Amino acid sequence: METAPNVTLQRNIQKNVETNKCKNKIPRDVEMDIEYLYEVIPQLSQIFRIIDKIGEGTFSSVYLAEAQMTDGLTRKFALKHLIPTSHPMRIAAELQCLTVVGGTENVMGVTYCFRKEHHVVIVMPYMEHQAIVDIVGSLTFEEVRHYIFHLLKALRHIHKFGIIHRDIKPTNFLFNRQTKEYALVDFGLAQGTPDTQIELLKVVKSKSYKGGGALRMVEDSLGKQKLVPLPPNTRNPAVHSSTKAPVKRSCPPSHIKHTKELLALKASRSVFGERNLNSTNSHKPGSEKVEGQMLKQDKDEVVPRKIVSTKRRLVSVKTALNDQKQKDPPVISTPSAQKPKPSAVSQSLTCSCHMTDRVCNVCLSRKQQVAPRAGTPGFRAPEVLTKCPNQGTAIDMWSAGVILLSLLSGRYPFFKASDDLIALAQIMTIRGSKETSEAANKFGKSIVCSQELPRLDLRILCETLRGLRSCDDGSLPAEFLASHHPGDVKRDVGSPANKPMSCSGSLKSSAELQEMGWYNVPDEVYDLLDKLLDLNPATRITASMALQHPLFKDMTDLVM
Ligand code: ADP
Ligand code: MG
Ligand code: ZN
Repeated sequence: METAPNVTLQRNIQKNVETNKCKNKIPRDVEMDIEYLYEVIPQLSQIFRIIDKIGEGTFSSVYLAEAQMTDGLTRKFALKHLIPTSHPMRIAAELQCLTVVGGTENVMGVTYCFRKEHHVVIVMPYMEHQAIVDIVGSLTFEEVRHYIFHLLKALRHIHKFGIIHRDIKPTNFLFNRQTKEYALVDFGLAQGTPDTQIELLKVVKSKSYKGGGALRMVEDSLGKQKLVPLPPNTRNPAVHSSTKAPVKRSCPPSHIKHTKELLALKASRSVFGERNLNSTNSHKPGSEKVEGQMLKQDKDEVVPRKIVSTKRRLVSVKTALNDQKQKDPPVISTPSAQKPKPSAVSQSLTCSCHMTDRVCNVCLSRKQQVAPRAGTPGFRAPEVLTKCPNQGTAIDMWSAGVILLSLLSGRYPFFKASDDLIALAQIMTIRGSKETSEAANKFGKSIVCSQELPRLDLRILCETLRGLRSCDDGSLPAEFLASHHPGDVKRDVGSPANKPMSCSGSLKSSAELQEMGWYNVPDEVYDLLDKLLDLNPATRITASMALQHPLFKDMTDLVM
């Protein structure tokens, strides 16, 4: 009798797999991933038919599934399978963000969570959406204005709870163009402000989880568990298999079995058709109380550091900690810091490169500064790129600014940077090198740029890139036009086929652009853009201020 449930599960899995095979639309590797997911969390097969894989990142795979509801209807869900090596603390924090703030104000809610051993699946309502990259050229100005408005609403909501999302970008802000629905997803990198209301973000923030590299749980000689850093550049085997490699299915690293007890995800009752039990958000249908405890690992920390060539760099940039007392050695973060390490140089030696655009051996031998540095380079704020240790909700506002810049110019992604210094250089080409250095000084960093880059007029920039104005009317500096500017989607840093920019990224006719509202863009939107892309986080506009901006004056009924 004891085996009966297993037999049923087996049959369910088989049936689901067969159904998928009959439909025969999904590739074999996705089919295998789905079978694997049923295998590692057999319970899923009792409730869901997993239809397809809809997202695959470094830290999770997301599947589309459907379930028969108690009312007889079929509903779609997104199942986010976190990589088995995700830190239990990190997972618990992600879940807590979703359960506490999700389900309202354009933030994705959570329905349930499954866990078996080190495998965790977060179940969310499925939201159909379009990829921005596919629609950026066809968006009307009104669509852009609404998109940004709804993104700001989501940000105001999470910031109110002291959540810094840290990975604001279009793939994490789902947009359904037909239904005009929006949803912020992916709290996998979220951190808390000092007064965050998300308990687990306080723990995630604590110092012991930070460090230059990934952390790993080990048992000491007394059998006690402790976190130790992995050697730099240690690649997480599961991370490595970015595209469905079999390695993903191999046994998880041995430390997992020690940490799994730390994750106490308590999903107290069965799910579907039931209402949420979470006292903090009982108004949200479909969400369920999920609790967790324990430990984290910064997503970013397991990402292998990329080594990039500096040859094609537009400008060379150096950032340093601007510590007047020079007590702590300045931290230099430049591409050349990736070169083979020179033999150890005594820390007592004085730096000879301060305020130059070279990096001396003293600096090369210094340890990396520890600062949160999550997210995607092209969306990172200057204070993140320069590893400023005090980072707040303003970093999400910068990312929102980059999204707005992208939508207005019709170029996505706008900043296509493979590392932080390229990203910083690209920011300077738009916002000015002097301005960037001055702002950095205010947050305690110094940036040296080998070439002076003027600040560009945002309207002229966006209109030129959108093809609304000719690029040879002299309004943009010649150096900018000759360069492979950041907004040029065709540009590929690593490719020899680097061509100077083509101004007209849009293939739309003037009549179409007129129809889409691109010839009547109000000044307000560029004013808001300028305030979002404020290089200084201390003065950068907040989400709630941005929602009061004149750009949205006709939408105030939607603000509250
Ligand atoms: P990751 O941490 O791997 O980036 P995300 O939570 O961002 O994971 O999800 C990855 C992708 O999966 C998203 O960009 C989106 O396309 C899709 N996705 C995530 N959640 C949902 C959802 N609730 N409904 C529909 N699609 C989703
Ligand atoms: Mg994501
Ligand atoms: Zn130096």
